[in-house]
Amino acid sequence: MADGTKSRCTCMNCRVRGLMGPFMLIAVGVIFLIGQFTRYGFGDLWPVLLVVAGIVLLTQSLASRAGHTGS
Ligand SMILES: [Zn+2]
Repeated sequence: MADGTKSRCTCMNCRVRGLMGPFMLIAVGVIFLIGQFTRYGFGDLWPVLLVVAGIVLLTQSLASRAGHTGS
C-alpha cells in the first residue's frame, strides 16, 4: 500500500463530518430562500439549523469508523 503523506480518511465517520459545513450552508440558503417567498423569516426558521446540525452529528455518531486512518 503506497499511501501519500497527505491521505484523506474515507471512513464513513469522517465523510459525514465533512458534510457538516455544506449541510449548514445549504440550510442557511434554504432558510433565506424561504424568507423570500413566504412570510416566515430567518428569525422564525433559525432553529432549523439546530435540527440540521443535530441530524449530522447524530449520523456521525452512528457512522462506522471502520477503516479510519490517521489521527
Ligand atoms: Zn476516518
